[in-house]
Amino acid sequence: MKQNENLSTNLCSICPRQCKIDRLNVKGFCGETQNIKIAKVIKNFKWEEPCISGDKGALAIFFSGCNLRCDYCQNYEISRGGVGQAYTIDDFCRLIEENQNNHSCIDLVTPTHFSKELALAFEKINKKIPVVWNTNSYETEENIAFISNFVDVFLADLKYCDDKLGKEFSKCNDYFSKALSALKLMCKLKTDVMDGNFMKQGVVIRHLVLPDHIKNSIQVLNVINDNFPKRKVSIMSQFTPNGKSQLNRKLRPIEYKAVVTHLENLEISNGYIQDFDSASECYVPKF
Ligand code: SF4
Repeated sequence: MKQNENLSTNLCSICPRQCKIDRLNVKGFCGETQNIKIAKVIKNFKWEEPCISGDKGALAIFFSGCNLRCDYCQNYEISRGGVGQAYTIDDFCRLIEENQNNHSCIDLVTPTHFSKELALAFEKINKKIPVVWNTNSYETEENIAFISNFVDVFLADLKYCDDKLGKEFSKCNDYFSKALSALKLMCKLKTDVMDGNFMKQGVVIRHLVLPDHIKNSIQVLNVINDNFPKRKVSIMSQFTPNGKSQLNRKLRPIEYKAVVTHLENLEISNGYIQDFDSASECYVPKF
C-alpha cells in the first residue's frame, strides 16, 4: 500500500487538527500515541443501523481517544477518559481473524487517529467481511483516500453545518468544510453495493439531533439533500446528557418531530429514523 507523503512522516497530520507532533511517545489532541488502544470490543453488536449490523451483528471495536472530543460525547470515558488496552498490530490481526467468521462486519468506531497502524494490520489480515469506518467525519481527504484501500463502508457523521457549534462543542473552527469534503470523497470512492438489506460497500450518513439545536439539524438535512440525495441517511434521537456539557437535557419529542417532518418534506426516504425511546441511557454502551 502506498502511503501519502503527509501520512508517512512521523509528525502526525492524519486529521485536520494537524498537530504535527511525533506520536511515538507523545499524545496529540486525540489523546493517544500511535499505538493502537482499544477501550471495548463488543461481539455481535446489533445497535448499528440494520444494513450495518446484518444478521450476525457487528464486531464492534471502540478505540480509545478521539480527534474531535465533543464535550457532549456519548462515550465520554473512551474518548477522554484514557481507558483501554494496548494492542500490537499482531494482537489486532488476531482479534479480527479469530472473530470475523461469526460477524456481519468489522465496525471500527472512532478509528481515525490509528489510521496508519490499522492500514498495516489490514495488509496482513485475510479479510472476509466488510470493514466499516465509523467516523465523526473530521477527516482529511488524504486520509480518506488512504484508508479506502481496506475500508468498504463509511458510517459517517455530519454533526454541524454551523462552524460556531463546532467551535463551541468540539473546539474546531472548520468542522463543516472538512466534513463536507471528506463525505464527498467517501461517496466518490464507495458506490452503494447491497446484498439484500445488508451493505457490502457504500456510505451511510448519520446525524445526532442535539437539544436546542434544531436549526442545525434542518441545515444538515438540506446539505445532505443537496449533495448526497441518493445516499442512506440515519437520523438519531438518542442524545443522552453526560454531565460534562451545557447540553444537559434529553431531546424533546417536539424537537425530534420537527427534524423528522423536515426529512419527510425533503422526501428523503432512503435510510433510518430512530424510535424516540432510544434516548435512554440503556442505549449507550457502558465501558
Ligand atoms: S490524529 Fe491526533 S495527533 Fe494526529 S493530527 Fe489528529 S488529533 Fe493530532
